[in-house]
Order: sequence, then C-alpha cells, then structure tokens
Amino acid sequence: MKLLASPEIWFVCGSQHLYGPGPLKQVAANAQKVAAALAASKKLPLKTVFKALLTTPDEITSVMLAANADANCAGLVLWMHTFSPSKMWIRGLGLLKKPFLHLHTQFNRDLPWGSIDMDFMNLNQAAHGDREAGFIHTRLRLGRKVVVGHWSDPEVHERIAAWQRAARAWHDWQGAKFVRFGDNMRQVAVTEGDKVSAEMQLGFSVNTHGVGDLVAKVSDIGIDSRAVDALCDEYEQRYAVAKELRKGGRRHEELRYSARLELGIGVFLEEGGYKGFTDTFEDLHGLRQLPGMATQRLMAAGYGFGGEGDWKTSALVRAMKVMNAGLPGGTSFMEDYTYHLSPKGHRVLGAHMLEICPSIAAGKAKVEIHPLGIGGKEDPVRLVFDAPAGAALNASLVDLGNRFRLLVNEVKAVKVPPMPKLPVARAVWECRPDFKTACQAWILAGGAHHTGFSYSVTAEMLEDFATIAGIETVHINADTRLPQLKQDLRNNEVYYHLNQGFRA
Ligand code: MN
Repeated sequence: MKLLASPEIWFVCGSQHLYGPGPLKQVAANAQKVAAALAASKKLPLKTVFKALLTTPDEITSVMLAANADANCAGLVLWMHTFSPSKMWIRGLGLLKKPFLHLHTQFNRDLPWGSIDMDFMNLNQAAHGDREAGFIHTRLRLGRKVVVGHWSDPEVHERIAAWQRAARAWHDWQGAKFVRFGDNMRQVAVTEGDKVSAEMQLGFSVNTHGVGDLVAKVSDIGIDSRAVDALCDEYEQRYAVAKELRKGGRRHEELRYSARLELGIGVFLEEGGYKGFTDTFEDLHGLRQLPGMATQRLMAAGYGFGGEGDWKTSALVRAMKVMNAGLPGGTSFMEDYTYHLSPKGHRVLGAHMLEICPSIAAGKAKVEIHPLGIGGKEDPVRLVFDAPAGAALNASLVDLGNRFRLLVNEVKAVKVPPMPKLPVARAVWECRPDFKTACQAWILAGGAHHTGFSYSVTAEMLEDFATIAGIETVHINADTRLPQLKQDLRNNEVYYHLNQGFRA
C-alpha cells in the first residue's frame, strides 16, 4: 500500500516508590512481559514496545514529551500495575498529543486463593490503581479507549487491535497531503467544507492544482512507451478485457489512453507525496476521458479518492484503507445511487459514475468502455464488477460548520442481481436496523451521498478514530431507535459546541 508506515505503540506502566526497589523491579519485569505478549500477538497490526516504568512526575512528563517528538510513535498503552497517585500524571498527560489506550488488566490472571498474602495484594493493584488513573483521565477530559480484561485474553487483543488500526490511520493523517484537481462540482453543498478547520482538527492538508498540471504529467507518458505496453499487458492478465480494447482491437488506443491517465496521475501523486486526490467531471480541460479505471486502480493501490471534488471522502477513504491494511475485504469510495423499494425488502444499489475500488470486487473484473452521459468527454474505460455479500459499513465525514461529525451505518451487503445493461462497478446492501430507520437517521444526521464503504473496517475502529480526533461520531446500527437518535443529535449540538468553544 502506498506510503503506509508501520509506527510503534509505546507500552508505559505506572507505579510509585512506596513499595521499595524489590517490588518495583518485579513490576517492571511483569510490565515487560505484558508488552512482549502484545508485541507477539498476531491480532495486533502494530509493534508494541515497552518504554518505561514511570514513578515520578518528571519521568512521566519526559516520556510524554518524547512520545510527542517521536514521529514513529503512533500512540501509548498505559497501565497501572500498582497504585500510581495520579496527580503525578497531570503535567505529562496535559502535554501529551498522541492517542492513548488505557489497558485495565492485572498481571496474574487467577487469584491464588490458598496462598494469597499482602505481598501479592501489594503487587497486583490495577483494580484500584487503574481507577485512580481513570479519574485523572476523566478529570482532564482526555479522550481515550479503555480496554478491560487479562492481557492474554484474545478478546482484549481484538479491542486493542481495533484501536491500533485507528491510531495508525490517525498517524497517517498527520501531515498527510491530499490534492484536488479542480474544485467542487458546481453548487453541490455536502462536498464543500472548511479545509482550515480540517487541518486544525484532523491534521491533513488539502490543496488544489489546476487540471492542466495533471494534463502535463499525462502528456509526459508517451503513447507508445514501454510503461503503457506493460500496463496494458497487466490489464489483459488480471481482468477480462473487452475484445475491442485488447491489443489489436479497434478501440485499443483508448485503453492505452486510460493507462496513460493511470501512470500520469500516479507520477503526480508520487512526486507530490499525496495520499489521495479528487477530480470532477466539470473540470477536465485537456483530459480526454474522466479517469475511470485509472482512479479505480489507484484507489486499490491505497490512495484515497472522492468524486466531484469531495476531499473529505477522499481523506476518509484513505484513513479507512490504512485501518484495514492486512485484513481481508476491501474499502472503496461509494455513493448511495438508487433504491429497490420492494415490500419484500428495501435495498440500496451503491455505485458511482465509474470510481469504485476493485479491492471490493468479487471475482475477476471486466474492463469495458461506454459513454458516460455527462461531462461531454470521450467514453471512459472502467472496471466493471460486483461487490460480494457480507457485513459492511458506510461512513461519512460531515462538516457541520462548527465541527466535524463521523457518521457510520452498518449494512449487510447482499449478492448483486445480474444487471447486464449497467456498465459500472456496484454493490447492493440492506441497511441496519432497517432501510427506513437507517435512511431517516442518516438524513437527519446530515450524512453525505458519498461514503467510504468497507467490508473490513468496523464501527469500533471508526469510533476509536473519532475519539482520537476529538470529533463526534454517530452510529446507525441494529440498536438504533429514532427518538433516541434525535435526542442524541440535539445533545451533541450542545456538547461539541461547548467542548471546543470558539476554536472551530
Ligand atoms: Mn458522486
């Protein structure tokens, strides 16, 4: 995956000097064992490194500042093996800029009922030590994830893994660059947003280039270049390429142009260090086709993408791709396109004009060329495929003017019925808890028609991600009831507004 870093997670244990050097040595050794178990866990995508046993305010502050300064640190796991008076943590945690997870565990899994004595009790104090820590985290109003259970418990590893995936995506966003070729689709509201607020709150920057800058990169790719030959060969190996587009076919030249688009955009993104992009069919001056297969394949390589200038969805798709790195099931840019409103079951047909990522393709994709109908350009080449059945979700990053909201709807993707006359990639799903409730909730929450659609990113990862970002998250799932959701939206208006004051 393009520009994917594998940062570390620091494991930090808190204690104090009350117990003397012997027990502290034991605490440090135990903490290292716990950190090593997390480091060895196959469920966890990032490497856990034991960093320190902290017992004084100065040590704590020093490690928190070191975490801030270390570009390779994506977050911290904090655990209080023994009691660690938490006023010691105020200064350090007040300065900490990295995400943290509070692991509420205990070194010994089972209590040795027959032999337990005061030494054992003094060594295993997380039951109250972590409550002291939790109080100061809450008192400081720090967003964090709390995970409870023994450190060998697979369920605990799953909770930590979800957070690590969120922390990795957050790490990826900090300093990330996204490029827009052209502006928004004219008059569209939901794809607009405050790019200054986004950079302040979310850490990535969005800047524009005239499409002419991209045209120059595409023109640099010679129509007869070996790179174009090689890419066209790759297409024929990987996909079912329509006969007219194949080598020797009457429209092969148009496939070659699509390959030049892919190579040209790829060079632009590589040279600029971009993690995602947007384009719009209304601003393609100098390009012959709206990039279709080119965008689809670049998304599959790990770039974020949003159509019609939608930079928020481009950034979100990138973050979701980082979250799901290494997991089965893909992530794509998506649009709620058309409904099936049968009394036997309401369904959503998701698609876009062209740009659906083949990481969610079930089986071999077809390469076809057809007219687009809008934009007034030449026919674009596109990958056509069905997305598989399975649990999935849609997520939308909404700019409410004074803050961002991350909206999530869990869905059940179903087998795509045959649609021989619809030459685009597509997915079909049922919404949770049901179509009518989910769509009401989504619309009341201001969710976009553009989303990040994923089979592997979970609502838990997105919730952890929103917690790290300090933004609101709204989940529409099997438990959603509209009266409560409406009240939650009203409550959130007040909470998130007061929480950030004038900073938006
Ligand atoms: Mn669209």
